[in-house]
Amino acid sequence: SQLPLSVPVTLPNGTTYEQPTGLFIDGEFVPSRQHKTFEVINPSTEEEILHVYEAREDDVDIAVAAAKKAFDNGWSTADPVFRSQCLYKLAELIENNAETLAGIESLDNGKSLFCSRADVALVSKYLKSCAGWSDKIFGRVIDTGSDHFSYTKREPLGVCGQIIPWNFPLLMWSWKVGPALATGNTVVLKPAEATPLSALFASKLVQKAGIPKGVVNIVPGFGKIVGERLCTHPDIKKVAFTGSTATGRHIMKTAADTVKKVTLELGGKSPNIVFADADLDKAVKNIAFGIFFNSGEVCCAGSRVYVQDTVYEEVLQKFKEYTESLKVGNPFDEGVFQGAQTSQMQIDKILDYVNVGTQEGARVVTGGERDGDKGYFVKPTIFADVKEDMRIVKEEIFGPIVTVSKFSTVDEVISMANDSEYGLAAGIHTKDVNKAVDVSNRIKAGTVWVNTYNDFHQSVPFGGFGQSGIGREMGAEALDNYTQTKAVRMSIDKVEY
Ligand code: NAD
Repeated sequence: SQLPLSVPVTLPNGTTYEQPTGLFIDGEFVPSRQHKTFEVINPSTEEEILHVYEAREDDVDIAVAAAKKAFDNGWSTADPVFRSQCLYKLAELIENNAETLAGIESLDNGKSLFCSRADVALVSKYLKSCAGWSDKIFGRVIDTGSDHFSYTKREPLGVCGQIIPWNFPLLMWSWKVGPALATGNTVVLKPAEATPLSALFASKLVQKAGIPKGVVNIVPGFGKIVGERLCTHPDIKKVAFTGSTATGRHIMKTAADTVKKVTLELGGKSPNIVFADADLDKAVKNIAFGIFFNSGEVCCAGSRVYVQDTVYEEVLQKFKEYTESLKVGNPFDEGVFQGAQTSQMQIDKILDYVNVGTQEGARVVTGGERDGDKGYFVKPTIFADVKEDMRIVKEEIFGPIVTVSKFSTVDEVISMANDSEYGLAAGIHTKDVNKAVDVSNRIKAGTVWVNTYNDFHQSVPFGGFGQSGIGREMGAEALDNYTQTKAVRMSIDKVEY
């Protein structure tokens, strides 16, 4: 029997809502051509939530054709104020449905409502910010002498393929869809197979916002099928990807055959440095938030903590106490800080790294095990007495596992912090403004947080140095990923009067 295109879902807090299950193509929810479906799991209970339709290559091709038609038939040349109004309306609808969306995210991803609410709040702010940019995409007039008139325009690219991960499903949807639409592109987006629900629910809001058919298309499915097709399809002009560095490398190679523009937001192993002159209580809260926020499933997680030797034992003790006070459990319980990890694969990987760390000789200060026997919960874990060449210090774990190292001088900690193939983010905790600026200058990372961490703002660009990626999201920089420059040079005849 055929899967209905919408299924009522009751959240653990008692709210019932209608969850779309179809692909969203050309403004409508539709079954996949081959009628294949896949299962979506609740990571807090390990039980099935429902099935959704699974897109395959033929569905992607239909979605790309719809997106191309929408691009050619008006969206790319529309009055920018119309695009702005569409995005603003979408942001308002997100706000009106904030609690439902936060609930969907906690159900599907396992993150606490505390985290989901923060995500949804940033989603609506970011879409409003994008709405504000739509009519502020400017070219330049270049003085090339009176016999020519030369100017540039910033034009949209066309159909953009967008591939997002499971750690921030709705937030990543907004970071991809917002700037693409503001600049006149159309999109075909693949949510992660573990977390397709919020992007499908948001598609109902895309309909309600009056965004023309075909401008946004959502094709849930698997990376090796749908993701690959997005990277090879000749009518897709750009691929935007967030996820692991390994998959990012592969995507870049695959997209090379059709010379697509590629932007990548990849992994990290970000250092978080506590100097002896910091407000230590505040620093401890920041290093805990830096690693345990979103169950540690954060690309810029401050997973390597460095503490100056004179305060090392004191900070470690405070960090242990504070960590043990964080509530882990049912994401729907108010007061819970850390929910479940998103998948069986993820919890297996995390627990494997706990074993690796122990075998490497690191000391577990707190945590180091699963929390409960049902659901993918892991105790927030601190490793001390680590050496810089240990795998737990070098490799991205993507869970609530942090290493704490000791340093004595500024030069020493900078060389430790920069000893990584990644360069996504870094944290510095100090009261000395000169030190804060000097260290920020010398750290190789796309974002440096000072006396704060995991602190995002819709106007501030985010992205990686080194193997953490290419391109920036949010802020004015995000628009550069979605426009191409056209230069117009006109010959001007000398006028005889
Ligand atoms: P992944 O990078 O493989 O998946 C991210 C997205 O890419 C998903 O939508 C997936 O379907 C898609 N994808 C996978 N293979 C693809 C391919 N060949 N072509 C096109 N798209 C493809 O990540 P994962 O396997 O879900 O997780 C593995 C590890 O990646 C995690 O443990 C974590 O370390 C890291 N990760 C990082 C981020 C981040 O934000 N930087 C996000 C998710 C996962």
